[in-house]
Amino acid sequence: MKSSPSSSPIIDRTRGRVDVAPAAGSVVVSGIQPSGKLHLGNYFGAIRQHIRFHDKHESYFFIVNYHALTSIQDAEALRRYSLDIAMDYLALGFDPEKSNLFLQSDVPEVTELTWIFLTLTPVSQLEKGVAYKDKVAQGLTANAGLFAYPVLQAADILIYAGTHVPVGADQKQNIEICRDLAQRFNDRFAGDAPILPDPDPYILDTVAVVPGTDGQKMSKSYRNTIGIFDEGKTLKKKVMSIVTDSTPLEDPKDPDSCNVFALISLFADDNQRDEIAANYRRGGYGYGHAKKDLLALITDYFAEARARRHVLESKEDYVLDVLRQGAENARKRASETMSRVREATGLITTR
Ligand code: ADP
Repeated sequence: MKSSPSSSPIIDRTRGRVDVAPAAGSVVVSGIQPSGKLHLGNYFGAIRQHIRFHDKHESYFFIVNYHALTSIQDAEALRRYSLDIAMDYLALGFDPEKSNLFLQSDVPEVTELTWIFLTLTPVSQLEKGVAYKDKVAQGLTANAGLFAYPVLQAADILIYAGTHVPVGADQKQNIEICRDLAQRFNDRFAGDAPILPDPDPYILDTVAVVPGTDGQKMSKSYRNTIGIFDEGKTLKKKVMSIVTDSTPLEDPKDPDSCNVFALISLFADDNQRDEIAANYRRGGYGYGHAKKDLLALITDYFAEARARRHVLESKEDYVLDVLRQGAENARKRASETMSRVREATGLITTR
């Protein structure tokens, strides 16, 4: 089995280099949306990399509850998902002594910077936004918050003077908007001494898209997810429901075209993966066997994290303390940026 959460090395033996660590002196920032339970796609596509380098660089990880309001307008659900994400990160190995985890809304200055940025953003640029266009294409009424989502995202990054933003390739467009805004702000207001940095998107493109139980990309929107902390009957039911073809048990099978095997590859070490691939090719190994192997691998891989998660569930005060401390550090950094931004823009204050 591959090393479980919190002990994973930067180099993934099965895939070579999985991420290029930012240089010393970098400030890493990343937001996590509390819009539902975190799933295996989120873990292998983003969280695993977050946890890997969070203690190696000054990092700000925030639970983007302002962003989530563009789709979740249910106070209890938003509160629950926000705390769940904090517990998930801590259980998966996030060390609050080494890095900052906090709620976006605990640094409300970010909304002030968003407003300033909105006055610098051409409407035409936001109209090209992929998430916004998708909603409109689906016939949904996109609210102005969703329309301006990339601008809040830019403020999230630039308020902490973030230099590196670990995101999936799907976020590239938004990071470009962020870079444009930093440049536009500096050109207009900062003269020869730039106030905002030019962030590096630091695209995490090494993990292929994790398939869901139906074979499409695993996503909350498709209801095909396997939760990181699913266990027992729930986990079993989801694993058993993964779609496969109907090749009979005794026939040889192609592991490379199988969703179950794609998931197995994320959890198994080289030997286990080769052994299971050989079973597929030999025949006499059915998809039911593969699913049982996958179930055992998932259960094992997250065993320690799951145990830590159970303990954290009864320690909400501790979790809130972690978030409070993270917010305090983040707010100091945000205030420094904001006083320079206010001065540069002529927003005088009598406070
Ligand atoms: P969802 O599609 O479930 O709403 P998000 O858009 O909130 O997921 O994704 C959060 C992060 O997880 C992003 O960085 C995204 O690239 C990554 N991610 C989400 N789903 C997958 C997947 N199936 N495979 C790889 N990465 C994923």
